[in-house]
Amino acid sequence: MLPCRHRVRPWFLTLSLWSWQETVKAVFLDRVNIVSEYDTMVRSPSFEIRLPSVVSLKTYVKPALYPAFTRFNVFLRDRFSCQYCGDKHDLTFDHVVPRARGGMTKWENVLTACAPCNLKKGSQSLHAAGMKPMQPAYRPTVFELHRNGRLFPPNYLHESWMDYLYWDTELEE
Ligand SMILES: [Zn+2]
Repeated sequence: MLPCRHRVRPWFLTLSLWSWQETVKAVFLDRVNIVSEYDTMVRSPSFEIRLPSVVSLKTYVKPALYPAFTRFNVFLRDRFSCQYCGDKHDLTFDHVVPRARGGMTKWENVLTACAPCNLKKGSQSLHAAGMKPMQPAYRPTVFELHRNGRLFPPNYLHESWMDYLYWDTELEE
């Protein structure tokens, strides 16, 4: 969910640079106005709200330099393409250093990979698998994700990634 202070092109609002938890927190701290909502309800024992899809900031907040570590943002960093072969279908996540070898789930160790490449690499190291990613796994800035978001046509990302509760949940580090 992208906070906006000015009118921006509609498709751009759908980019999820905040995790949905961050957005709900901002609503409860009264830091944002809700511009529009999804149909999905967020519930806890004491409250129930519709998940905001677009919010505007009530006061100026220094923009975060780094985006939330979510599935959506990892795919956006990698431009929704396999980092080993460039395929854009059947995408999954690859741990560069396999979890079985102590590899962590973090920006610097997770790459977008198509299922066949993920299967081929298995729990081997890059060297053992003879595979080389197009770019190393790294923590992107918000600016870089905005730039990548502009590569996609209007509404492309929104319609393709409807399961925001899944996609915008912060990954465990
Ligand atoms: Zn691939």
